[in-house]
Amino acid sequence: MAIIMDGEVVSTSLLKAMLADRDSLRIRRIRPTVEIIRVGKKKDALAYETAIKKMFKKIEIRCLVSAYPEEVSQDKLVMEIKKKNEDNRIHGILILRPLPEQLDEYLIGKCLDPTKDSDGMTPYNLGNSILENNSSHLPCTPIAVLEMLSYYQIKLVGQRVLVIGQSAAVGKPLTVLLLNRGATVTTANIYTKDLKKSCLEADVIISATGKKGLIKKEYVPKGCVVIDVGISVDAKGNVSGDVCFDDVKEQCSYITPVPGGIGLITTTVLARNVLSTALNESNKQVV
Ligand code: NAD
Repeated sequence: MAIIMDGEVVSTSLLKAMLADRDSLRIRRIRPTVEIIRVGKKKDALAYETAIKKMFKKIEIRCLVSAYPEEVSQDKLVMEIKKKNEDNRIHGILILRPLPEQLDEYLIGKCLDPTKDSDGMTPYNLGNSILENNSSHLPCTPIAVLEMLSYYQIKLVGQRVLVIGQSAAVGKPLTVLLLNRGATVTTANIYTKDLKKSCLEADVIISATGKKGLIKKEYVPKGCVVIDVGISVDAKGNVSGDVCFDDVKEQCSYITPVPGGIGLITTTVLARNVLSTALNESNKQVV
């Protein structure tokens, strides 16, 4: 039976390490502030927004939300983001993804000020992840996965890690960050021919597809570490991951639950990014 990796425990430990930053901002009377940019009213985006607000309250980060209609134009959104780049009261900007089809995620990311890019989506910050510059903001979910693995002292050097999913927000940056830590990484996608075979060769499986039940017990080698990033919400609002949790936990050594796993750490990492930007900006003013 596997050890259940607890997102709450890891999040609490990260929050504890962030208290000194919060206190120094308090003393300087600076209120760390994030601006969430949401296009449309998708259930997933609203749920993520609620989770962020709950987390940010714990660490005294002010959360502003700018909501735009689903059909907002590229030009309008770019103009709005540029205004927020210039607003000194805002320390971090989070653009909720995926964006509707008429919006070009690359161009939207490109107009965001990299210093305010709380989810590491700009070409500048993503490029820095390849160059192993860890002072940049890196995408929160891949970092949340690494925080979880680190807390449970899971070795990465020389380990065969399978990342399933290759989005710009999760799978691709996670692949790079794992390579930077000495893992031997395979990245699978929807076109992968024999996913079961790739899974059976892995020491660590990280699934980020949003396909409920994709990872079954027979896919998982004995003693493997299984990290579930996927989130699927059914019509009744029930949340599930990519992994058949009850079966797979009998087979692996460590496993993350959904909910209660990576999601909680993601919002904590986001808060850490906002605090660090606010602190860096206030240090510049002191100098
Ligand atoms: P996405 O839709 O952009 O990408 C999904 C990826 O999965 C694609 O690369 C696709 O090729 C791959 N895929 C789909 N079906 C597959 C299959 N059968 N076999 C192999 N690969 C397959 O999604 P995303 O933004 O990367 O998010 C992935 C999942 O993670 C979603 O469920 C999302 O809600 C969740 N998510 C969770 C967190 C968190 O903090 N826990 C954060 C971000 C995203």
